[in-house]
Amino acid sequence: RHGNGHAGAAPFLRVTGIDKHFGSFRALSNVTLDVETGEFVCFLGPSGCGKSTLLRIIAGLERQNAGAIHSLDQDISDLPPAQRQFGILFQSYALFPNLNVRENIVYGLRNRRLAAREIDSRLNELLELIDLKGSERKYPAQLSGGQQQRVALARAIAPSPRLLLLDEPLSALDAKVRVHLRQQIRDLQRRLGLTTIMVTHDQEEALSMADRVVAMRDGEVEQIGTPTEIYHTPRSLFVAGFVGKMNILPGHVSEGRLTVGSLAFPIPAPYDTPENQGDVIACLRPEQIRLRTLAGGAPGDTLPGQVTHLEFLGSFWRASLIVPALGNAEVSADLLSRDMAELSLTVGERVGVGLPRERFAVFPA
Ligand code: ATP
Repeated sequence: RHGNGHAGAAPFLRVTGIDKHFGSFRALSNVTLDVETGEFVCFLGPSGCGKSTLLRIIAGLERQNAGAIHSLDQDISDLPPAQRQFGILFQSYALFPNLNVRENIVYGLRNRRLAAREIDSRLNELLELIDLKGSERKYPAQLSGGQQQRVALARAIAPSPRLLLLDEPLSALDAKVRVHLRQQIRDLQRRLGLTTIMVTHDQEEALSMADRVVAMRDGEVEQIGTPTEIYHTPRSLFVAGFVGKMNILPGHVSEGRLTVGSLAFPIPAPYDTPENQGDVIACLRPEQIRLRTLAGGAPGDTLPGQVTHLEFLGSFWRASLIVPALGNAEVSADLLSRDMAELSLTVGERVGVGLPRERFAVFPA
């Protein structure tokens, strides 16, 4: 279903029921997930949720207290790191400062018995991949942060690892370089068909790079899904709030109908669950809200509101509104600059706040 896995075939990596504690502290609880061959999976969550610990266990750098790790059909739970043949790249560039680019990359091949000719051809291939041809004699101090991280990446993939593990590889870089390197890593991963797991606390990074995202909280997996599933159909309030901006509104469910303010409608299908009964939290993304003039009378999904604040964010505007029918809740609505030009909102203005019913995500209060 995901990646290049064949129906029925064992996934490239299967993590089952992993527990990890440090003393009395439980860093991971019953973590289970699959990674298919060729897939790019991101572990996403706030600082301290256990992402790095999970990555280190997969690498064999840390021992789990319970659970198992399989690769294809082999149990690798007790295999030392080197025998797993996984490549690892950490946040800090970790290049040897006294070795030049060539020597740093070739270091990744040290355990392979390769002829000088093979090493040279592999090196040239890698320099081309990371776009650093001609820089092989430079030392790390002569390179920018982004270039250093590309060299570290080349060193990690030099021995053709079976799985590439990336632990916050971009977080030490400035914003522009980070976005560029995101694309480079993703292109390279696709071109080589490298099965990859990346740890990040940056939701934008996870959504833009991953085939699937593993959203984590307090040592547990909260949700596994494609970026669009995670963003549009969060399965917990935590995921809804962690990934992107979310309006969180009081609601009520009874007999399959969701009431938000004076609006009532059938609860959207994925959230029509037994837990969603009585008082609930109804979530709606700012870009799903439609603002309209009140002149023509409000359509059935619209509540009157008043603009309290307007923020210009380049490609869009974020309007804050007070909506009396929602108990004076403050609601954020995003408008493309184009739509803003048409509506020409001003602070203090009264407008219709359109809340599309099928776009709500609903969780128990
Ligand atoms: P960050 O992005 O901050 O590294 P993370 O999600 O990767 O966060 P981990 O580094 O996996 O989190 O750490 C999870 C929890 O386990 C943290 O509370 C951390 O303090 C704790 N922890 C990690 N390693 C150890 C250790 N060797 N001894 C004790 N506690 C540890």
